[in-house]
Amino acid sequence: MNKNMGALVMALDQGTTSSRSIVFDSNYAIFSHSQTELAQFFPQSGWVEQDPNEIWQTTLYTARQAMEQQDLMSEHISAIGISNQRETTIVWSRLTGKPVYNAIVWQDRRTADYCRKHQQHGLQKMVSEKTGLLLDPYFSASKIAWILDNVSGARAAAERGELAFGTVDSWLIWNLTAGSVHASDVTNASRTMLFNIHSQDWDNELLQLFNIPPSMLPAVFDCNACFGYTAEPLFDGAIKICGVAGDQQAAAMGQACFTKGMLKSTYGTGCFALLNTGKTAVQSQHKLLTTIASRLNGEITYALEGSIFIAGASIQWLRDGLGIIQSAEQSGQDAQTSDIDQDVYLVPAFTGLGAPWWDPEARAAILGISLATGRREIVRAALESVCYQTLDLLGAMHADWQTVSDTVLRVDGGMAVNDWTMQFLADVLQAPIDRPVITETTALGAAWLAASHAGIWPDRDDFASTWQCQRRFTPNMCVERRNAKVNGWNAAINRVRTAP
Ligand code: ADP
Repeated sequence: MNKNMGALVMALDQGTTSSRSIVFDSNYAIFSHSQTELAQFFPQSGWVEQDPNEIWQTTLYTARQAMEQQDLMSEHISAIGISNQRETTIVWSRLTGKPVYNAIVWQDRRTADYCRKHQQHGLQKMVSEKTGLLLDPYFSASKIAWILDNVSGARAAAERGELAFGTVDSWLIWNLTAGSVHASDVTNASRTMLFNIHSQDWDNELLQLFNIPPSMLPAVFDCNACFGYTAEPLFDGAIKICGVAGDQQAAAMGQACFTKGMLKSTYGTGCFALLNTGKTAVQSQHKLLTTIASRLNGEITYALEGSIFIAGASIQWLRDGLGIIQSAEQSGQDAQTSDIDQDVYLVPAFTGLGAPWWDPEARAAILGISLATGRREIVRAALESVCYQTLDLLGAMHADWQTVSDTVLRVDGGMAVNDWTMQFLADVLQAPIDRPVITETTALGAAWLAASHAGIWPDRDDFASTWQCQRRFTPNMCVERRNAKVNGWNAAINRVRTAP
């Protein structure tokens, strides 16, 4: 091992499609990296599940691999930070540590009817005033209720105080500490629909509404708090866990979006745009979410968020479902060589539509197919759909918060490496976009949190000044063509929505 690399920090980045662990050195550079894919199950239309044990085991495996690759011992790792897929709901026994059901993934729509009933009872206003969220199956509350109502014996056990609920961060912390810590951070808590983002505490009225016993809930800490230490048998010694944030909030930190008005968009399984609104929790009038961007040493920052459920997931579907591409990387080349005169649209409502439509019943469609349409045009339509959806989100952000206009969008995530898509994004937005040198911003954000707690990277401005643009994409499509394409998208979306 190179002994001159300074203090090291390890980020555990548990995403929807993969678990990865990245060790960063004291210059914010990647020192070692391990990643492994994990399975999703689709038991019924609109249902999405994962195995909680696989989530934990792949995380542990990659952490051990990342250390072994460089002969690292626990003493070399100053701190661990965690970033995770958000909202995904796990309920487990406090007595055995075993999950009572699979993880219900954020994309899952099984509670659409349940949420609609609450909407019909006029509860949307109260819920969004307290949580900044919309009554949608996306968030954890209705998923917990589903588990308690559908898993035999679960409600009785929960009422006896024997069950714990957690988003993926809590589940990992529980396992990392061998069941001694049941905790979450404010950013993850703010996505459960049980947490009041203004008082920053669990909300009794919401707990009653969803019929969830308070004893199931984790303690909620600052993002850069000390969450505990890894249990001795996991690594060769204990490592401090002192940074936790939901993946999108972590990515915003990794993109150094620390000041009011800064904006990032992450293109992974889904696409999530976060606009830092400082100390103000902006209540959206255009169906965006108000969420907690971070709480550092007690200091809160809010964000406006636009959430799109399907971005890279369409590319996975082209690969694994349709089998018309061999790899995600191939998609850019296919789009490049497709027939640009064909206006094919793919509206990727595979699990309904997120912001700004919030239509859980909508399902995906491909429109504008002619006999000339081939594989490549469909691939291009999938990539383009991500850009049109970003346009819809940013339009809603502009309408909610005027000062967004002069911000350059910072992009990251697995799909951001696709040059063709990023160029099309700049064309559709008619605005420049910046891609950083480090696109592993989610892990970097988690590492920064842990490192700032551990005193390794204490200065936020110093960290922000290391952010480097790898490439700026500027618009080069003629406006008439761009407008025609956007009009075609708007028509396609209207064909797919169930309640236009
Ligand atoms: P997550 O954290 O949600 O698991 P990632 O940020 O790891 O997601 O990104 C993975 C997603 O990015 C996958 O859905 C994959 O299809 C997509 N992806 C990866 N590389 C490319 C590429 N070159 N072009 C388009 N999509 C890509």
